[in-house]
Amino acid sequence: MGQAAIIDGKGFAEGLRARVADCAAAFTHKAGRKAGLAVVLVGEDPASQVYVRSKGKQTVACGMASFEHTLPADADEAQLLGVVDRLNRDPAVDGILVQLPLPAHMDEQKVIAAINPDKDVDGFHVVNVGRLATGLPGFVPCTPLGCIMLLQHTLGSLAGLNAVVIGRSNIVGKPMAQLLLAQSCTVTIAHSRTRDLSEVVRRADIVVAAVGRPDMVKADWLKPGATVIDVGINRVPGAEAGKTRLVGDVDFASASTVAGAITPVPGGVGPMTIAVLLRNTIVAAHRNAGLAFDESAL
Ligand code: NAP
Repeated sequence: MGQAAIIDGKGFAEGLRARVADCAAAFTHKAGRKAGLAVVLVGEDPASQVYVRSKGKQTVACGMASFEHTLPADADEAQLLGVVDRLNRDPAVDGILVQLPLPAHMDEQKVIAAINPDKDVDGFHVVNVGRLATGLPGFVPCTPLGCIMLLQHTLGSLAGLNAVVIGRSNIVGKPMAQLLLAQSCTVTIAHSRTRDLSEVVRRADIVVAAVGRPDMVKADWLKPGATVIDVGINRVPGAEAGKTRLVGDVDFASASTVAGAITPVPGGVGPMTIAVLLRNTIVAAHRNAGLAFDESAL
């Protein structure tokens, strides 16, 4: 049995951030202001706080302005909608991201719908979902866009390949399937009700696992030489008592003896998400400022 090539998402994300930083410097020069990303956090969820801090740091490191707005967990929806409305109208803000999940008393769909679609750098607004489905330029959710970048970097053209996406969430699975279709793959979307999942996966040249179940996809589910993108992030007990470690949705040790190429967890898809968020923000800045920009160069 062979050994799969490791798809280095961490390295690719570093390169992408460097390209974004070059574009951000050029934007500042042309527009006379920095591109700006606003992140809104409601409550004190520790994982969300870590993400927001990391997004802010990486935004500044790329030469863009970072605006952070924090509301208490018991803030009412009207307060949050008020913040979104101010950010929609603020010319210094090119991208708006409301960190999810929101507290249970808030309606996520209503809040996302309030974001100006041209500042919706997360790509969750129905206008952007529709643009993706119809092939119009818009914003695409960061994690699946990062996956398609890694696939194109690894395989070149994806046209004609059989792709199986496991998972049908609005954040990962569905937009991933749309992106693969746009690259002329033959796409199957599998989910918890799919019959004979291992048989379905075995037909795939490309497997994207976005489920949230540790080590679910086994080596004998894979067609030899398949390219495997593991989106899953699962925390499981580590070797030492009391310690945990991160694993994906794919059983990496066995799968990497059958796959042609595979993303590791951590270090594969994970680092791509924020890098693509910064990419989407610099794209938004150029569009909002009416400046010409070769988006494909990113
Ligand atoms: P989600 O909303 O919970 O969706 C999970 C999907 O998996 C659902 O469509 C579900 O099917 C399907 N599923 C569940 N059990 C299954 C089974 N036994 N067989 C086949 N399909 C099954 O999760 P998500 O937000 O898409 O995230 C998926 C994973 O990716 C999680 O581990 C998450 O942490 C990770 N993630 C990583 C990043 C990143 O790297 N930056 C970003 C986002 C998410 P049904 O629809 O039928 O219930």
